Amino acid sequence: MKLTIVGHWGGYPKAGEASSGYLLEHNGFTLLLDCGSGVLSHLQKHIDPTKLNAVLISHYHPDHTADIGVLQHALLIQYFLGKSNGTLPVYAHKEDTHGFRSLTYKDFMKAHAYNEQSKITIGPFSVSFVKTIHPVPCYGMRIEAGGKSIFYTADSAFKESFVPFGKDVELLLCECNFYGNMDASGAGHMTSLDAGKLAHETGAKKLILTHLPHFGDLKQLVSEAETMYEGDVQLAKQDMEVTI
Ligand code: ZN
Repeated sequence: MKLTIVGHWGGYPKAGEASSGYLLEHNGFTLLLDCGSGVLSHLQKHIDPTKLNAVLISHYHPDHTADIGVLQHALLIQYFLGKSNGTLPVYAHKEDTHGFRSLTYKDFMKAHAYNEQSKITIGPFSVSFVKTIHPVPCYGMRIEAGGKSIFYTADSAFKESFVPFGKDVELLLCECNFYGNMDASGAGHMTSLDAGKLAHETGAKKLILTHLPHFGDLKQLVSEAETMYEGDVQLAKQDMEVTI
């Protein structure tokens, strides 16, 4: 599996960058995980959007979905320019009816619902879900392919059930919107210490901190997470590629 960080800022994108968006590739199949603000622009450095095979959405906050509409426009315009890859499937929960409906667009994009019990197959990826603790319904995902696994927490406060759900993953892609001395749980987010604790308790081989805050010295997030976790900790960076 190859993971490309298309965007990693929490809330909104920094100038010239993007909020949540992650491109996963395996055996030639491409899956876009969340589609926040700025994602469509940066995605095109890595892939022609008409070549995407599927999209998976964790929740309907704009920093995870803002560019769905412009992705739909890209598919429409490219269709009229002679490029089409058929209907792009988008997997999302339907606890937000308006949000779910907005994912289907003409014949270019079609929404498919998952829930916490779902175990779905998207190309070579098998995906299971865990409900997170967040102000709106949101799901974390365990994604497996080629014998390797990723746990993407999406947005959440620390939750004990994440530990068995993410057991022994190769990569924990963990949101980290706050520093260790702050209260993140009230906002439905995690601190660097929560992320380190989760990496330690799941036995993840590697931890990438993402959904990063717009304040402070981000390197401090890494050093704080390292006080809880003995493995490799990295900050998500624009265009970073990781082979899992
Ligand atoms: Zn959110």
